[in-house]
Amino acid sequence: MKEDRHFTRRKFMAATSAAIATPAVMNIAGAVPEARAEAKSYNFVEKKECDLVVLGGGGSGMIAAVRAAQLSGKKVIVLEKAAFLGGGMRTARTVRTFRSKWQQKRNLPDHFTGYANLKMDYALWMLDPKLLENCMLATGQFFDWLCEMEGAEFEKQFVEGKYVMGDSEFEPIGPQILDTGMSGKTFGGIVVGIMKEKANKHGVEVLTKHPVVDVEVQNGKIVAAIAKSEKGYVRVACKACVMATGSWICNEDVCKKYVPDYWAVKEDTMMGAMDWQIGRSQAGHTNMNYTGDGIPLAEKVGAFLDYSSFCIRLLGPMAMGMGGAAGTMADSPFVMTVNLNGKRYCCEPIAHLGSIDGAHLQVKQPHARGLSIFDRNVLEAALADQKNRTLRAGSGSDMPEMALSGTVDEIIESLKKGGKSGGAPQGAPGGSQGAPGGGQGGPGGGAPGGGQPQGTAPGQGAPGGAPGGQGGGTPGGQMGGSTVPSSYWADTLEELADKMGVDKKAFLETVKQYNEYCAQGSDMELFKDKKYLVPINKGPFFAATSAFNHDRAFGGVKVNPDMQAYKADRKSVVEGLWVTGDFSTGRHTAFNGHKRQAINDLSWAFSSGFLAGNSAADYLKKV
Ligand SMILES: Cc1cc2nc3c(=O)[nH]c(=O)nc-3n(C[C@H](O)[C@H](O)[C@H](O)COP(=O)(O)OP(=O)(O)OC[C@H]3O[C@@H](n4cnc5c(N)ncnc54)[C@H](O)[C@@H]3O)c2cc1C
Repeated sequence: MKEDRHFTRRKFMAATSAAIATPAVMNIAGAVPEARAEAKSYNFVEKKECDLVVLGGGGSGMIAAVRAAQLSGKKVIVLEKAAFLGGGMRTARTVRTFRSKWQQKRNLPDHFTGYANLKMDYALWMLDPKLLENCMLATGQFFDWLCEMEGAEFEKQFVEGKYVMGDSEFEPIGPQILDTGMSGKTFGGIVVGIMKEKANKHGVEVLTKHPVVDVEVQNGKIVAAIAKSEKGYVRVACKACVMATGSWICNEDVCKKYVPDYWAVKEDTMMGAMDWQIGRSQAGHTNMNYTGDGIPLAEKVGAFLDYSSFCIRLLGPMAMGMGGAAGTMADSPFVMTVNLNGKRYCCEPIAHLGSIDGAHLQVKQPHARGLSIFDRNVLEAALADQKNRTLRAGSGSDMPEMALSGTVDEIIESLKKGGKSGGAPQGAPGGSQGAPGGGQGGPGGGAPGGGQPQGTAPGQGAPGGAPGGQGGGTPGGQMGGSTVPSSYWADTLEELADKMGVDKKAFLETVKQYNEYCAQGSDMELFKDKKYLVPINKGPFFAATSAFNHDRAFGGVKVNPDMQAYKADRKSVVEGLWVTGDFSTGRHTAFNGHKRQAINDLSWAFSSGFLAGNSAADYLKKV
């Protein structure tokens, strides 16, 4: 039932490391579409004609363009806003693939129906099973297509593996890239490279720095796309159109309306802090071109924008001090967690909700901050429990990588000094060690657990160095460009409250109340199991900070199983229009802003592009 819930911190860092390792890239300033319901006149500097125009030369758009051109032999033009092709796909690493010949040749187990059933349950059967069937099958067909085009050498780059964040019993074992290190080689990047080459082969004309700003609509059909190049407006007449303009995460109006909780605390994310501080260059999972340009264009032609599907996938809660004892304790069931108002808000540890689901609670707290409080009593209980191995920490973590090490006194000393020696190592240390105010004014600390230089713009807040605790509560190691300390300590609870910046009166009252629950063996407020109720009254006192993260924004035009755009009636389709990738909706639902997806993003980008290419080619042969 749970999609991607229990991936570990290590897996999380692996999954996001591509983002961290991504060099800053040049984009042209985001031109927001000028599409209006009324006709607008332009002075065109150039007019072009084609059979199929593809709006957005990111991953799914390029796949659709190449596939349609290959199958139909018709003229295809791709209009891309950025100076480069491939969008977010260039940095995406792992996929799920079903029923490819590659898998069949290796006699890998076929989990197709089990997986589909599980995911339909997860989405409460609110998705079209035919669409899920099509896009799951298309993942394998797409990979076969690549193998056919590229031959045996291509296949050798892949090893048998699972999608990095998947953990269900029906996870398919399929092709994953051999090198999952920090070299920058990604599955998505490989595909983008192939698509560029094949576009050339099949005569696809690719125009970068051509943001689409409008479409011309006649009789309910897009008959031309209008792009704004550096020279002026360019009109591209077409018979059919694929919209593949990606996400809207950098559109303030859309975010404020559909993801207000996220918007209110976006600067408080871990990597998100970096995204926003460095001016929305390509960092983390955002991209300054993700301004949701497809929205007014799709609305103009009468496509159904399914706003109920709009959501941001949030990740966390993530302990800021991931490498040390403080990070380990943040996920311990023995801690008491408060927000900046000094109030508890969930049965601890919050991580028991999982590393994705918990973030939706975290994001609603002031500055999306959680402070997990512990003292000598709690440390003793956590350590004893760890030795007995009867309990595990929150389900979002796993004990081997989160274990405490040393005696209670040693852990306390290490927490006071900075916390790093108090927990099992989390991979190689990062670069800079989180100097006061870390993450500001220098090109790059190390990637957490990876030690890779960041290469962000000089003078900007680079992702922080290896996180650690703080001596006496002085700000020290931070993460993700955040200036928030990863932990605090103090001799008294009053002093701790001051250092954390929480509402002191409320905090002291919360601790008092919590200690009463411990004495009674019953937490009537948040229903914590009595075996985890340990009073907090024996100093020194500590707090481990946790925050949240995000990957991308999702939601857009509702599509049918062939990726054709539905009209508002959700039965008929807009003639000659396909929508792909992050801007298309059909493979996920958003429950109260929480994404429940049947298939992961990159698999969907592959399969939606591939299916749109197939269907558009059929259409072009007929018109
Ligand atoms: C760092 C990173 C790591 C990821 N890792 C994974 C992973 O391991 N597994 C996984 O399943 N998913 C992953 N994803 C997600 C996955 O890559 C995306 O969901 C997928 O690439 C989306 O494809 P797309 O075609 O919709 O968008 P994109 O590939 O981003 O393309 C959209 C394109 O549209 C262009 N555009 C926008 N507006 C206009 C306009 N007005 N005119 C013209 N062009 C326009 C953009 O510039 C962009 O090139 C990752 C994403 C990122 C960023």
